[in-house]
Amino acid sequence: MTRPLDLPTSFADRVCVTDPDIIDPYCNDWTGRVIGTTDLLLRPGTHHEVAQLVQAARQHRATLLVQGGNTSLAGGSVPLAHEILLTTERLDTIAVDPASMTATVGAGVTLARLQSEIARYGFSFGVDIASRGSATLGGMTATNAGGIHVLRYGPMADNVVNLSCVFGDGSTIERRDTLLKDATGPSLQRLLIGSEGIFGVITSVTLRLQATSQHRSVAITPLESIDEGVAISTLLRGKLASVNAIEYLGPEAIALSPSNPPWERGAGGALLIEVLETTSSLVDTLDNLSLDREWVLADTTQAIHGLWSWREDIAMWVARVGKPLKLDLAVPINRIGDLYRQAQMVAQDARIQCVCFGHLGDGNLHINLVGDDHSLETSSRAIYQAAVDLGGTISAEHGIGTLKKGVLPLMRSASERHRLSQLIELFNPGRVVNPNVMLDPSQGGGYERS
Ligand SMILES: Cc1cc2nc3c(=O)[nH]c(=O)nc-3n(C[C@H](O)[C@H](O)[C@H](O)COP(=O)(O)OP(=O)(O)OC[C@H]3O[C@@H](n4cnc5c(N)ncnc54)[C@H](O)[C@@H]3O)c2cc1C
Repeated sequence: MTRPLDLPTSFADRVCVTDPDIIDPYCNDWTGRVIGTTDLLLRPGTHHEVAQLVQAARQHRATLLVQGGNTSLAGGSVPLAHEILLTTERLDTIAVDPASMTATVGAGVTLARLQSEIARYGFSFGVDIASRGSATLGGMTATNAGGIHVLRYGPMADNVVNLSCVFGDGSTIERRDTLLKDATGPSLQRLLIGSEGIFGVITSVTLRLQATSQHRSVAITPLESIDEGVAISTLLRGKLASVNAIEYLGPEAIALSPSNPPWERGAGGALLIEVLETTSSLVDTLDNLSLDREWVLADTTQAIHGLWSWREDIAMWVARVGKPLKLDLAVPINRIGDLYRQAQMVAQDARIQCVCFGHLGDGNLHINLVGDDHSLETSSRAIYQAAVDLGGTISAEHGIGTLKKGVLPLMRSASERHRLSQLIELFNPGRVVNPNVMLDPSQGGGYERS
């Protein structure tokens, strides 16, 4: 049973929702695998209201779980421990500052809304992810989201100028200035980037924007093997300054498409590249690099969208097969073929489905496993271990959430986890905000980093 907050009536009327029919959809995650429950949904509309709610939660010994767009693939956005759910959806202001090329946005603004708002100024935002219609800038900051343009612009950490937050102890920082430089000591706000809400609630973020490039082209080429994709990626990145994205589509992912691709299928799947130049100059470059291969090219907005949908729709096709367990691994790029093959072997042995795609240019492979729960559990452990043994990470961009807490010790030593729990105690004593995310209070067990 969720603890009540006993708020003044007019405030409660404005922010509290108790109707289960409204609350229920907020409790299911995007994959349908993780289902939480709560009796109370809070919808604050300002930084001040968030601060009031955190204070009330402290007073009543209640716990809060913050939710942005609920697109977490790590089980971090739904209330699994009966927390009160605090959605940021009403923190929805956008202020663009053309002079500094920044935008200060409420935590609940979706990426798609930001993109359309700043397009009016001729600007774009460096981080782009397929869940843009729902994912919020607060959630993306909290998870240090990466996405398709990390090669060029880095993850959220490289694109956040400043932020406002309410820490779990009730203290707040409000920074809406647009300074691109500020050397006044360590930034406490930066601690919140990638923190998945364990220190508190991000209420707004100021983001660095880019001038939109005049030209953009996309090309796809079939592969005989994923290693061939790595070789092409290495060549392109070393020679072509305008590379914007290098993405991988596994053969088993393409096979899930309801239609035939506009390229000859290759045994190793396909490679998608996006560059910020015209198609004719891209063709010249590919010729000069003696990349003697077939490319399907696109330069109009519609055609570019068409080619990208082959990559971005894979998650939807996988969801039609079953409720996937999503692993989000990164390894040094020259080991990505090894990771791919090991994952397929593990899945084959366990007789489960394994569908791979991802951001090949940054060595980030999304491995989607579909099968019975027991096989998923044992196979995922083997694949996490394989990634770490290859010099990689158990989470490249989705975060730890609740699903990967047990494997965090593969990446973070006991001493690092202890330091992290001390920081949580400092900023969010008693773990009022996001008590169940990233680290259990009694973290132990799991697998120790050797
Ligand atoms: C189809 C699809 C494609 C995706 N592609 C990518 C991709 O390419 N790259 C990538 O990085 N991710 C990707 N994701 C994962 C997901 O979209 C990102 O993790 C995103 O950043 C989550 O944003 P959100 O607003 O939905 O946050 P939520 O899912 O609501 O929350 C995520 C976590 O952040 C915390 N949180 C949310 N808002 C706040 C806040 N204001 N303050 C403090 N904590 C907060 C939550 O408690 C939770 O732990 C994809 C997801 C889907 C479904």
